[in-house]
Amino acid sequence: MQLLLSTLLAASVVSGRSVLEYRATPQVYSSCINDNDIALTFDDGPYIYLRNISDQFTAANAKATFFMNGNNWDCIYNPDRISDVKYAYAAGHMIGSHTWSHGDLSTFSSDQIEDGMYRVEEAFSRILGIKPAFMRPPYGDTNSNVQTIAAGRGQSLALWDQDTGDADGNTVAQSEAVYNAVAKAKPKNALILQHETEETTATTLVPYAIKLFQGEGYNLVTLAECLGVDPYQAIGVPQAQSDAWTCDGTPAPGKGCGGSITCETGTPLFSSAAGSSTSGAPTAPSSGANGGTSSTASLPNAAVSPAATSGGSTPAPSDSNTGSHTSSPSATPSGKTGGARALTVPAGALAGVIGLMMLL
Ligand SMILES: [Zn+2]
Repeated sequence: MQLLLSTLLAASVVSGRSVLEYRATPQVYSSCINDNDIALTFDDGPYIYLRNISDQFTAANAKATFFMNGNNWDCIYNPDRISDVKYAYAAGHMIGSHTWSHGDLSTFSSDQIEDGMYRVEEAFSRILGIKPAFMRPPYGDTNSNVQTIAAGRGQSLALWDQDTGDADGNTVAQSEAVYNAVAKAKPKNALILQHETEETTATTLVPYAIKLFQGEGYNLVTLAECLGVDPYQAIGVPQAQSDAWTCDGTPAPGKGCGGSITCETGTPLFSSAAGSSTSGAPTAPSSGANGGTSSTASLPNAAVSPAATSGGSTPAPSDSNTGSHTSSPSATPSGKTGGARALTVPAGALAGVIGLMMLL
């Protein structure tokens, strides 16, 4: 009996893992996978330096990754921000979720976590017509609940293995020293954290990093490229702008829903093709359970999330130069193993095992 159960468990996990790899089941990544790739990632926008950073990467035949908020340094529905987000996306850079308000998810209730993911997913769906496959938790602070909820929304968590400290008070020279140390160590790859909201990052660190790493022979690619997966769960079409595109009545920077702000815990409207909007229900085979990635026929492997509103307010950002942005990513998520990939037990395999155990 014991042996039989063990055998069944092993078989289930093995078959589950193959399913996992096929679907790119959400995981936690703190480093790249592919050799010779460096992913430079920029958090906390969209903000006024986004277009400049996008252009520098494009001019260098390189790609950047932007983890965006809905309501942090600016409102993503500010007309200038909408334009910039579309611009960076059209240039081929990767867009990921950094949640709506940049609140610390490890202190949020489950509904507040869902809401923080939903609102920015909604903004991405509206502005770009995409479902992100990656979410970077603000401050790198996460826990098993955050990971489970992100996975339920089809999103992997993206951390980092090198931090320039550009939003934590590091001088330009100190941040450059981080790049220099990486170049000197000659790692097979690197996943580096910067912030698009810092002027000196845009004007000084970006050109420095591009020149340094390309000079060392690295490919500057998006996070998805250095992992070998798709950046989005699905790509549809942008929606027509309306008065609903506002940051008014949404959680302020650093805050969660609650009180007068209803928590949004569903799946935002997604337009998979001109004229056909859905409530977010997968257009292709449902992957079922709460591990579901709503992949489409054109994007078989992907992970991730939602978006938000408009307005023109310029709220005080929830992080930035307060020195609060960094927490050691290497200390994080439960379930994360030493390597780049965390072992995630597929929901399907788990259900199968439980079912078998009940039968036995
Ligand atoms: Zn951040």
